Amino acid sequence: MAGLAEKVALITGGGRGLGAAICDVLAEAGACVLVADVQAQLRDQVAAELRSGGRSAEPVSLDVTDETGAEEVVRSVVARYGRLDVLVNNAGIDKTVSVDELSIQDWDRIMAVNLRGPFLMAKLALPYMKEAGSGHIVNIVSTAAKRAWANAAAYHASKWGLLGLSHALHVEARPHGVKVTAVVAGGMRTPFLLDRFPDIDPGVLQDPRSVAETVRFVLTQPDETVIPEVMVLPMRETSWP
Ligand code: NAD
Repeated sequence: MAGLAEKVALITGGGRGLGAAICDVLAEAGACVLVADVQAQLRDQVAAELRSGGRSAEPVSLDVTDETGAEEVVRSVVARYGRLDVLVNNAGIDKTVSVDELSIQDWDRIMAVNLRGPFLMAKLALPYMKEAGSGHIVNIVSTAAKRAWANAAAYHASKWGLLGLSHALHVEARPHGVKVTAVVAGGMRTPFLLDRFPDIDPGVLQDPRSVAETVRFVLTQPDETVIPEVMVLPMRETSWP
């Protein structure tokens, strides 16, 4: 998939933060962007802004924890556009508490969004991509998949799991001409961190657009090349040595 013009790209969690930046960058590259988010106002706003700038974008109602809804989304995208070229598994959540304080419901919810969601979306998209003999799934991982810090056990478990899932998908999909990439991101200036940690120095984080540009880079490699994993870090964040 050397170019992105006319490609149909579905971005989960596209309503804000990194997902919105990925929508922006891919739409700018000519893709038809499906802004899939659980929050209606956010997805509508991102899609409307892109469209007002002359880009191709549609809001899509999606909760990645709901398999019935997700199945309907993927089916209706293929019915409408005849294809699904790119799936970006970006939606993610966290809760900053110790294992003692983490409820079983919160554990289940974090795993459902961050790990089961990408599995579900990949499982639904892959048959269409395999049939087409092309396609690309990008999983947004985190430095939380490479090491651990306190008060994020479920997040770590989900992201270490997602990194493993991404490599497993890569191995299964590659013989069918389908690419899978794990983008391991370091801290970004998005509501995910800024809303929860108001004292954080934004200067130690990176612009989500830098990670979005990396997504564009992996998506635009020559057909004969795949990047299974790439890491993108801010220069000053301390969570990565
Ligand atoms: P964010 O909280 O700013 O945005 C997440 C988006 O996902 C929101 O629009 C939200 O509505 C949506 N979402 C949440 N649950 C959903 C669901 N069930 N179905 C569909 N959409 C859902 O977060 P962000 O910082 O933009 O993070 C995006 C991804 O990047 C996440 O996977 C996160 O783990 C990862 N990441 C973030 C950072 C960081 O520092 N911000 C660092 C590394 C990796």
